[in-house]
Amino acid sequence: MRGLIVLAFAAAAGLARVPDGTMRVLILSGQNNHDWRTTTPHLRQLLDQAGNFRVRVTEEPAGLTPEILANYDVLVSDYNGGRWNKTAEAAVEQFVKQGGGLVAVHAADYAFGTMEVLGDRHVRTGIREPEWTAWRQMIGGSWVEGPPKSGHGKRHCFQVKWTDPKHPIAAGQTEFTACDELYHRLRIEPNVQVLATAYDDPAQNGTGKEEPLLWTVNYGLGRVFHTGLGHDVAAMQTAGFAGSFVRGVAWAAAGAMAPRQPEAGQKVRAMVVVGGHDHDTSFYGVFEGAPGIKTTVNPHPTAFRKDMVKAVDVAVLYDLVNEIPADQKAILQGFLESGKGLVVVHHAIADYNSWEWWWREVVGGRYLLKPLDGQAASTFKHDVEMNAKVVAEHPVVKGIPPFRILDETYKGMWISPKSKVLLRTDEATSDGPLVWISPYEKSRVVYIQLGHGRDAHEHQAFRQLVRNAVLWSAGKL
Ligand SMILES: [Zn+2]
Ligand SMILES: [Zn+2]
Repeated sequence: MRGLIVLAFAAAAGLARVPDGTMRVLILSGQNNHDWRTTTPHLRQLLDQAGNFRVRVTEEPAGLTPEILANYDVLVSDYNGGRWNKTAEAAVEQFVKQGGGLVAVHAADYAFGTMEVLGDRHVRTGIREPEWTAWRQMIGGSWVEGPPKSGHGKRHCFQVKWTDPKHPIAAGQTEFTACDELYHRLRIEPNVQVLATAYDDPAQNGTGKEEPLLWTVNYGLGRVFHTGLGHDVAAMQTAGFAGSFVRGVAWAAAGAMAPRQPEAGQKVRAMVVVGGHDHDTSFYGVFEGAPGIKTTVNPHPTAFRKDMVKAVDVAVLYDLVNEIPADQKAILQGFLESGKGLVVVHHAIADYNSWEWWWREVVGGRYLLKPLDGQAASTFKHDVEMNAKVVAEHPVVKGIPPFRILDETYKGMWISPKSKVLLRTDEATSDGPLVWISPYEKSRVVYIQLGHGRDAHEHQAFRQLVRNAVLWSAGKL
């Protein structure tokens, strides 16, 4: 079951998994003020020896595209050079936002500043502040020109202490020795979770402070690991560097393979959105006593006024509103792009009719309230007794037997050919599909056509479908 979730999530994130669980790594290299010609092969070797990784290297990361990145679970940056083109930068940012992993080694944390290319791909850094803001935020800590200026003291051997020994990257260790540069006075973003620090000895031109060296960042759905260590191959040959690097890559890659939230044991927080259409209050009974689900009801016009990402895992739409203001659209879009779940029930398929991104990509279907774009208006019929039957294997319809239900049918909807239909009826006044999974890739979206009135709301199968859809869209089934 878990394997299925992992696969389904990976597919949802647009990341096709290698079936045997191998983590697919792409090392970004080809420019650095460090000796990338020796460090990149060494990093590759560390992963190859660890097993379970399939490693590729690009020396032209400026040519990256979403299509190329779709073949990987994690990117390892051994790159410290100039800006790429917009396509490559956007592709990498989206890759991480959507759950891909990113690991930055040593000088990668001041890439994308002002660089002077010296001969064949060797660069001298001028201004050491990454101009690419998203890179700075993804990596979480970067060099600044100051004051105080980032840098390092004399290279020497020092103890690296795990501040979070329980973290999988720490592997229960307390400390290790590094013989390396000890970066200091970096600008650390608030989203950084420091894993390990080292005392920066003033006798070695250090700051006299504990400086963060290893840390993680959650960026969108993606996991980022940063190690300030690794100036050269000699530094990378210490056991502490090698172990933390390999575990860091595996940890970052795991983000591409696992549903992120909510945590095990926590209830899924569903926000039920109503308004714009009458409905029987029996609808709320669907959620009463539903195991693993906690609901709040938020009617229009307040439904999308506040950012929902932190407080809500799944939005359940049972509203019917033609148009919402642009700021509310942005909130809803941000919610979905962050990977949160969406369950659209019954008449909510007629929501936001003129927001094409919404109906075409997110919901994968549209009920047309009037003729639009050359298509006739959709039609409905109340109190139809019909048969419903599961037509595909999926957690949302698992264990639902064929059933009969008295409900409203819709016909003449636009349904995306990319939507995966899970439940159908042979009723003539219906288009047929009663439940589908939309083709939207950044989060899990389910549409349930059933649910007009009390007969449906109190029907065992309808209740189970809605509950399953909520849990599944939250990554819990
Ligand atoms: Zn260095
Ligand atoms: Zn209805």
